[in-house]
Amino acid sequence: MTSTTTAAQATAKTATPFLVRAVVPAYGPGAADGWRRLLTAIPAHAAGARDLDGAWLEPGATVQLPLSALVLAVDHHRDHPEHWEITALRADAEGLAEATRWTRRSPLGRREVTRLRALLAPDAAHHTARTLTAPNRHSGTCRRCGRDLPAGTGLVHHTPTGTVLICPTCPARPAQLPVNIRPGRCAVCSGWVIAKDGIAVLINDSTGNSRYQPVHRTCPEHPLPGPPLTADAWCLDCRTPVPAGTGYWHRGPHHAPGTCTPPPDGLPRWITTIPRNEPAWQTGTVHRIHHVPRPGEPLLPEGLPGGRILADNGHMTVLAHVLDLRTTQRGRTLALVRAATWTEAAPLLAAELDTALKARPDGGTFLAREVIERIHGDRGWVAEITGHDPRHGLARQFLRPQTDYDNADAHGHTGVLDAWTLRPRRVYEVSRPVGPPAKNWREIRRTNPRARVTEEQRAFVRVTADGDIAEITREEAQAWPSAALEWMS
Ligand SMILES: [Zn+2]
Ligand SMILES: [Zn+2]
Ligand SMILES: [Zn+2]
Repeated sequence: MTSTTTAAQATAKTATPFLVRAVVPAYGPGAADGWRRLLTAIPAHAAGARDLDGAWLEPGATVQLPLSALVLAVDHHRDHPEHWEITALRADAEGLAEATRWTRRSPLGRREVTRLRALLAPDAAHHTARTLTAPNRHSGTCRRCGRDLPAGTGLVHHTPTGTVLICPTCPARPAQLPVNIRPGRCAVCSGWVIAKDGIAVLINDSTGNSRYQPVHRTCPEHPLPGPPLTADAWCLDCRTPVPAGTGYWHRGPHHAPGTCTPPPDGLPRWITTIPRNEPAWQTGTVHRIHHVPRPGEPLLPEGLPGGRILADNGHMTVLAHVLDLRTTQRGRTLALVRAATWTEAAPLLAAELDTALKARPDGGTFLAREVIERIHGDRGWVAEITGHDPRHGLARQFLRPQTDYDNADAHGHTGVLDAWTLRPRRVYEVSRPVGPPAKNWREIRRTNPRARVTEEQRAFVRVTADGDIAEITREEAQAWPSAALEWMS
């Protein structure tokens, strides 16, 4: 006996059952309640419904069942005379077919159970039912046509990724609605249509679904590609302000197409967040920013005041001039900034250098030495920039060198060293002779003993907080005197 059962189970497991689709019958007319069940086993002692095994099935659901599966449907009628309609159904290629039926004054009894056992297929223990669709228990809207579906009027489709509620058959929809309920892009001109500002037209998309798309009543000459801006904003394309009502939103604010006016200063602009611990910024002031340019924002160009790239991801720091400020709904303050000019940046650069100098153990009282070797009598010079000169641009004061002849050759052609003392907090211009001298330098000197025989290299320099003599640009040199003069005193 045991071996037979095991063999039967093994056969049932390996054989692929032939599956059929069937609709679980709804309750009959007048039934007060009832139940439907897939029968998988009827124990030997079974005497009534509670002793049966198998999954409950939902009336009206479409299920997938193995061929010859046995389904029991019981309807309980409470009205006089109270009775039970009991139907045994068997799955065949067409669906569920009635196998036998009883009408009783009492629930399922021992005699019916015995009859059901005879109807049970040998492999019934392995039968399962998979729900494909079932009536909706809760009201919802049709995923396909958007119609409201009260409980029981729609079908919930069980898909591998979840359940989807749709109409049993979606009603035909009018080709056009007098008003667009939802905003969106115009099907004709692609411009934005505000909700209820146009009509809606039924359009078939590439997946075969149809949906309503807005259309302008009259397409504007210059349509906006996104919803209009209701508040002042900063354009993502040109990073200048966009007044409310003139631009549109598409993953951020933009000027209306073709109306961007890039700022004439050509200086890079960024939108950055003000650090939380800093006191409020004011427009027109200069601050050091730390910023990672977002997609579409410029990376830091070279040669800007206080500019430095800090990391490969574009993380940078630079002195920036605040153009505009805005507080987000989350309470963060955003700043529209551009790189500061040297003139704007000089006071802050001076203050930063001063802080760095004061942090040194010597308090920034150290001196740096600029040493320039003479080449065949051509000598260098160092001048301190003392301010602006109306005729020469920058006012200079030439400094006197200390000269060292210790390593000089007999003629003084090489090894003569001139040295100057440079201080931090000041700006200098330096001239250096660059060798080698002209091949005919003796001839040149014979005709004019004071003529140059080498090239000259000029540079503006200043002393860094690290004690190095660093070359700076002419713009920076021009900016420093205005900041440095008050700061040196
Ligand atoms: Zn529908
Ligand atoms: Zn349009
Ligand atoms: Zn713009």
